[in-house]
Amino acid sequence: MKSAFKQSIDKAINDANLTGALGKFSEAYKVNRARAYEGIDFELLRTVIAERKSYAASNLDLMAAEFTRNAEAAGARVFQTDDPEKVKEYILKVARDNFVKTVVKSKSMATEEIHLNAYLEKAGIKVGETDLGEWIIQLAGQTPSHMVMPAIHMTKEEVSELFSKEVNERLSTDIPRLVEVARKELRSKFLAADMGITGGNIAVAETGSIVLVTNEGNARMVTTLPKIHIALVGIEKFVEKFADAIPILTALPRSATAQLLTSYVSIITGPSPNTDGSTKELHIILMDNRRTEMANDPKFKQALQCIRCGSCLNVCPVFRLVGGHVFGKIYTGGIGTILTAWFDELKKSEEIQGLCIQCGNCKEICPSKIDIPELIMEIRRRLVQKEGLPLLHKAIYSVVNNRRLFHGMLRAASLAGKPFASGKFLRHLPLFLADLTDGRSLPAIAAEPFRDRFKKIKQPKLNEKAVFYAGCLIDFAYPEMGEALVKILNKAGIEVIFPEEQTCCGAPARYSGAYEVAARNAIDNIKALLSEEVQYVVSACPTCTVALSHEFISTFESLGQKEWLPKAKELAGKTVDFSTLVKKLVDDGRLSLNDRRKLGKVTYHDSCHLKRTLQVSSQPRELLSKAGYELAEMFECDMCCGMGGSYSIKLPEISAPILQRKLQNIKETGAPVVAMDCPGCVMQIRGGIDQDGADIRVRHTVELLAEQLED
Ligand code: SF4
Ligand code: SF4
Repeated sequence: MKSAFKQSIDKAINDANLTGALGKFSEAYKVNRARAYEGIDFELLRTVIAERKSYAASNLDLMAAEFTRNAEAAGARVFQTDDPEKVKEYILKVARDNFVKTVVKSKSMATEEIHLNAYLEKAGIKVGETDLGEWIIQLAGQTPSHMVMPAIHMTKEEVSELFSKEVNERLSTDIPRLVEVARKELRSKFLAADMGITGGNIAVAETGSIVLVTNEGNARMVTTLPKIHIALVGIEKFVEKFADAIPILTALPRSATAQLLTSYVSIITGPSPNTDGSTKELHIILMDNRRTEMANDPKFKQALQCIRCGSCLNVCPVFRLVGGHVFGKIYTGGIGTILTAWFDELKKSEEIQGLCIQCGNCKEICPSKIDIPELIMEIRRRLVQKEGLPLLHKAIYSVVNNRRLFHGMLRAASLAGKPFASGKFLRHLPLFLADLTDGRSLPAIAAEPFRDRFKKIKQPKLNEKAVFYAGCLIDFAYPEMGEALVKILNKAGIEVIFPEEQTCCGAPARYSGAYEVAARNAIDNIKALLSEEVQYVVSACPTCTVALSHEFISTFESLGQKEWLPKAKELAGKTVDFSTLVKKLVDDGRLSLNDRRKLGKVTYHDSCHLKRTLQVSSQPRELLSKAGYELAEMFECDMCCGMGGSYSIKLPEISAPILQRKLQNIKETGAPVVAMDCPGCVMQIRGGIDQDGADIRVRHTVELLAEQLED
């Protein structure tokens, strides 16, 4: 019996409306967003936003005091609390004191966070959402599926059904007609409302102003028509100066919906007059709800830089497949996982944190420079720290931490898998393992691992030496990739050393939050890889390269383990990925590729870690071109293939459709070869192509280049 969480994933994936709408939007979004940012230095802009927001987060008390002083001087009443219950009580008291019967609201995640609508409705106050998307989901009794486009999952047929019930008239699915109905219905709500409630996109301490950004103008109606306006503002919305709002207003529409400008930007400083000459009541509630605690957490403080643009959702391969409801709570996607862990509780993020495949797309695009994947890893670490590891993981990691036992078991698995192997693939596995070969064949474990084959390679004695870190996949599944690497480096005058004591890089443990296990793997590898005096430690697996060059250090730092840090840094300084090293050797004239042959088309898949963490994407392309290939870029070449290490085993229902999309993009190029620099991606894509039956060769760049060495 599947868990409720797994059932919700299945439901979302099988909802063609949802996956269709999100898929189409996200594909168009990247192109349109790039256009919207033309002429703008995005790196500079996001650095400025991150700095200004970080400053405000470091000085929340100061911001709150200054904001309160200035807002009160302008005539607003300011109430600050860290308790969501007190927020609701305050709003209800204002409502009761003023005999409020109906409230209109503009879109506000902070009010969703504290479930304000249900609370007010229970107290007998009618609440009407006025953002079109929010109104639709309110009528449907649902929660938002996207931070910026709450009803993106609904079709015009469903909306027409909802509106028909609401106005008691059979409506067609004609969109202009539906909009007309919405406008008429909402207009009467605005006019009848006793109180308006908004959030606040920005709160300016210097002036005590609230900045509201909408596309429909509804916030302007909510704040001007009723006689009372309450703005509920999370204290992460502070900026110090009015000028600090400019970069946010530059990024927000571009990042949210790829617009140059939002239709309406309202800046509210103090209450405005009513039409009868009286003055409006303006209440501003500054809500903490663990934001100060977050600001004091050195890891999570950066999450307060979020400007709620939602672009991290638009580029997330998982979100665009399952949408927001799978995340179960108010905040969705990667950033939503982090906010749920804080504004709700850590335990509530236990299942949803597993949805993140760690592709890094969100980090690359975030206008506030938030390292979402790293923060999700930290959530995993804290969950393991608090709840301990599941028994199965404990058993697996005790093996992984014992190199001899681990490698012995991999050798045994080579024999055990033989009855199920067909050529180089495992196409069907028995019993409970059957799911593993659904939609993707697995590589058979090599009869002779690289570590054994290496001993038989006859290398010339050369002065320059490099250590090769193979990683588990090249060592035990694809030893031919290791042999190709030795051939290339020898050709460039470099002798390869393979320290036998090297073991798993610890990435699977780290990505599960088992940092102690990852740290033990790191120590074993540091000892092995630094045992020889060499200039380079080279790896042909980007995940392993990232472990050696970044994650050993951050794992020790997270655990407060100082002893091995200097050695980890020494190793990081020597570590290089295969393509970067070979490109350098070619540029230095030490290696020539035979470019006289015309090898035809090749398409290239960027592996997540190589492209986004190691920032390597042009090098393999240039090398393939130099070797005689004609590059045919595929659509979304840098979108994850769904492998994600053990992700494809834990969540095959998500991994499989991500892979199918990748295969489609590969096929559409018409290239007979697809290259990549990651053995994990080779495993996923080659396995997918094997089951698909397409006549496409899936190769690691190292293999393609080794075939084209100049004699
Ligand atoms: S790292 Fe990738 S999968 Fe994880 S939240 Fe970010 S975009 Fe989504
Ligand atoms: S985390 Fe970054 S990309 Fe995501 S909503 Fe916040 S600011 Fe936007």
